[in-house]
Amino acid sequence: MDCLFCQIVAGKTPADKVYEDGEFLAFWDIHPQAPVHILIVPKSHISSLTELTGEQQDLLGRFILLAKELAEKEGISADGYRLTINCGAEGGQLVPHLHLHLLGGRRLDDQLG
Ligand code: 5GP
Ligand code: ZN
Repeated sequence: MDCLFCQIVAGKTPADKVYEDGEFLAFWDIHPQAPVHILIVPKSHISSLTELTGEQQDLLGRFILLAKELAEKEGISADGYRLTINCGAEGGQLVPHLHLHLLGGRRLDDQLG
């Protein structure tokens, strides 16, 4: 198993966990870009958004709802936050295991999109 986030899910690489259920794991980013920078991953290995099919739309819905709930839990919901999924090389994806960045706790001026 050479996928970093699969190793974190399996407990073979340590991470500062925020939330875990049967389907998802959330943990703090090792190089935070904001006061709150949490990564949320499906426990099953999905390499990127491009791999998702319509069969996984329920998973995708729960994925985003979990991010919303963690934003509330971290106290950044009222002021605002950003969810980012980097996809593929030109999208800046470095770890080839689908993950959602939950960023907040400061004004995110580095606007893209
Ligand atoms: P990507 O560029 O693939 O969207 O984001 C990968 C993220 O994973 C980066 O923000 C990076 O800081 C984070 N990261 C890389 N290695 C580790 C690690 O070993 N532990 C944790 N917690 N985060 C990591
Ligand atoms: Zn993986």
